[in-house]
Amino acid sequence: MRHAKTDVLEPGKLWWNWFGEHYFVPANTVLPRSEEDVRQAVLAAARLGLPVRSSGRGHANTAAVPTPGVHIDFRAFNEVLSVDRELMRVTVQPGISVGELSRYLRTQGMSLNNQGDIDTQSVCGAIMTATHGAGITLPCMSMQMIAARIVTADGSLLDLSAEADGELFKAFRASIGMFGVVVSITLQAVASYNLLKRSWNADIEDCLGGLHQRLQDNRTFWFFWLPRRESADLFVLPSGVPNLASRDHDICHMRSYNAVPVDQAVPEPEPGSQFDHSSVIFPNLYEPNFREIEYAVPFEDFEATFDEVRHLFLDKHKDFTFPVECRPVKADDSYLSAYAERDGYALSVSGPMEPPTWAMLRDVDAIFDRHGGRPHWGKHHFMTPARLEKLYPRYDAFKKMRRELDPAGMFLNDHLRALFA
Ligand SMILES: Cc1cc2nc3c(=O)[nH]c(=O)nc-3n(C[C@H](O)[C@H](O)[C@H](O)COP(=O)(O)OP(=O)(O)OC[C@H]3O[C@@H](n4cnc5c(N)ncnc54)[C@H](O)[C@@H]3O)c2cc1C
Repeated sequence: MRHAKTDVLEPGKLWWNWFGEHYFVPANTVLPRSEEDVRQAVLAAARLGLPVRSSGRGHANTAAVPTPGVHIDFRAFNEVLSVDRELMRVTVQPGISVGELSRYLRTQGMSLNNQGDIDTQSVCGAIMTATHGAGITLPCMSMQMIAARIVTADGSLLDLSAEADGELFKAFRASIGMFGVVVSITLQAVASYNLLKRSWNADIEDCLGGLHQRLQDNRTFWFFWLPRRESADLFVLPSGVPNLASRDHDICHMRSYNAVPVDQAVPEPEPGSQFDHSSVIFPNLYEPNFREIEYAVPFEDFEATFDEVRHLFLDKHKDFTFPVECRPVKADDSYLSAYAERDGYALSVSGPMEPPTWAMLRDVDAIFDRHGGRPHWGKHHFMTPARLEKLYPRYDAFKKMRRELDPAGMFLNDHLRALFA
């Protein structure tokens, strides 16, 4: 592999993802300071015949980032570029973290409509992988993007917007960085809101019995199923929340979040409740101690799918103790998000970072496959082109658009080429 030193191409530096599961030394590393740096990097890569992959904060646990070519690291390309307080729109550099943006929006009287359960990933990484929170009325974060600017394979700048680019923008929304290198993103924010969060534990029968009512009654309702007594410790779930459970395993840790306008009085604190700005309530803390797959099944298939996963853990994989996280997400019109054209229920299953976890995840994958589960693009999965063909009505249309924008496959790596060439 050729190494080059130009103004923007530095010798390749070791990069590893948050989990430490993927690491690589590319031919060249780029730490851009401007759009022009990114353009020059893509032009230099084209001259040298090198592929290009970008990273935000490295929280994806697929091999979506590694490249033998040019790696553009956006960690420090994280400014707010402009804000329109009237239309509640904000334009940012792609490497800004969800938390940095969310806290900035608070200073401007705004919030993100929804976030995932950490806020340390980049806005671009979250959007490119269809990262989501929970709530039957809340779509994934790719839907908060209303415009973006990318550097395409020929080194030109392309402005894309939901309004002007219709189908192309829908395909771009969750495109895992395959259409080009994103240099700015405009998001639609909403008026600032506080969240009242309630957490409690109860038996699984209670959780499932009241599921549909709780989904209707709360902006956000989600739960972790805890197969064993020690499960809660593994995901740092809080202790000291109200405990309505009759046993110490096969129970659920449930959470609801409801929005309260910022000018409304602070409610009386109750056990297990927290009240603060959305930017404070959404994020949780995790340790990189797990290997995870997460697929979204059609909303109406959730209970049957969950039942099979639960019995797999209770009857066969009795040594696995990590919680199973279950979150509903509203349908969207993107080509490749797990929620494309259907409401979904995301089930996340994890095990320790040890070889036997793969066999357990394979068994879970077989259940998800039977129920039409679609993967989260930032988490492990076992997809093949044949499966994608069945799962995504616009899979072929996506590939066609990708090839038109990037005929030489500059923005692919081995992981993505196998699925989207
Ligand atoms: C502890 C933890 C908690 C999580 N919680 C949630 C959750 O609640 N909900 C959920 O849905 N997901 C969750 N995730 C998954 C996470 O949101 C995704 O993996 C997300 O992609 C991570 O963003 P990142 O900036 O770290 O991305 P990276 O891993 O750096 O990149 C992700 C993808 O975006 C592409 N990309 C990044 N920047 C650019 C750019 N400028 N141009 C083109 N492409 C780019 C990369 O090439 C890659 O394909 C969690 C992950 C972890 C580790």
